[in-house]
Amino acid sequence: MTTEPAPDGQQQAPAPQRSLLRLLPAEMEELVVARLGEPRYRADQILHGLYRGFATKVDDISGLPAALRARLDADGYLVDVAEEAACSRSDDGLTTKLLLRLAGGTLVESVLMQYPGAGGSHPRSTVCVSTQAGCAMGCVFCATGQMGFERNLQAEEIVAQVIHFARLLRERGEHVTNVVFMGMGEPLANYSETIRAVRLLTDQRAFGLAQRSVTISTVGVIRGIDRLAEEGLQAGLAISLHAPNDALRQKLIPTAAPHSVRDLVSAARRYFRKTGRRVTFEYALIEGVNDMPELAGELGRVLRDTGAHVNLIPLNPTAGPFRRPSRERVLTFERALRAAGVNCTVRVERGAEIAAACGQLRTAAAAAVRKAPSARGPESPSGAPSPAPSRGR
Ligand code: SF4
Repeated sequence: MTTEPAPDGQQQAPAPQRSLLRLLPAEMEELVVARLGEPRYRADQILHGLYRGFATKVDDISGLPAALRARLDADGYLVDVAEEAACSRSDDGLTTKLLLRLAGGTLVESVLMQYPGAGGSHPRSTVCVSTQAGCAMGCVFCATGQMGFERNLQAEEIVAQVIHFARLLRERGEHVTNVVFMGMGEPLANYSETIRAVRLLTDQRAFGLAQRSVTISTVGVIRGIDRLAEEGLQAGLAISLHAPNDALRQKLIPTAAPHSVRDLVSAARRYFRKTGRRVTFEYALIEGVNDMPELAGELGRVLRDTGAHVNLIPLNPTAGPFRRPSRERVLTFERALRAAGVNCTVRVERGAEIAAACGQLRTAAAAAVRKAPSARGPESPSGAPSPAPSRGR
């Protein structure tokens, strides 16, 4: 970034840094045409450089005149806002996890899950993004929930997670096909930045995914669900239920008290009526806690006439006291739920050997930092993750 001498001969403070990735196409035009006095097609060049070329800095955007690059630089515009801190890949190569360092040293995790395509077609490549660093919801089985809340992510920090994987996939001639907002944090507690990120990812002049290829997962922020229904988006909605009754749910999600299971099911019905998209309910199966067949029957009675689908998710193993049920227990629960009249599937286990449940990589990184002998004494080196445990979904 450059600075210009101030009229009194002193150096002006540099412009605050901001990312071009934050701007929706209409805002990019406003910047380029109204503020920088450039022709409209320059906005298209920048958008093309960001979302087709996956530029990491202004200089990577081809075709821009030097004066425009210098102006963007002088105004503090960056492109990339996330730096790779760690990357791990599962043995079968289908799951990749990134630990990304954001402004201020904040660390977040993102996961790429690939599902082989039929008959040699391209695989489905789903990126799971984080919307917050840490989480205030406090789910007792989730490593992110146990680390507490650090901060909301900006929309550009959410989009940057997808673009990091898009770059990786491009090297293999593949591309991102789906995005799920199921990583660290509660997306609807960071509502406006989440919606801005969804719009950036689904605008055909920006990242260009189909709206139906995006799913937002919430642990049950009802006001957010109702707002989302009014956005005119076709995004999928997943509600993390994890229990068929309020008593058990509040044990697993201590912040759930204001929203009963009945309220959540009503919100799901409203979302379906407004958007035409059926809601998925997520149910993390925890051995001996919520995986008993009688609870499947109770869940069936709660959801039977909603037409909703239930995703059963055997808990990702974490360092806490909660265990993943055996395969037999999972299948027994699934059969009981089906017998109660509810469609359900068991989510394929992905990436356990690379700590793919959200927060686990960050936790492992923190543990490694804590164990490593340090010449600086007991505190973490600059930029190292703060000690923390993550999300079971
Ligand atoms: S499961 Fe989701 S909502 Fe609950 S604490 Fe973890 S990240 Fe937050």
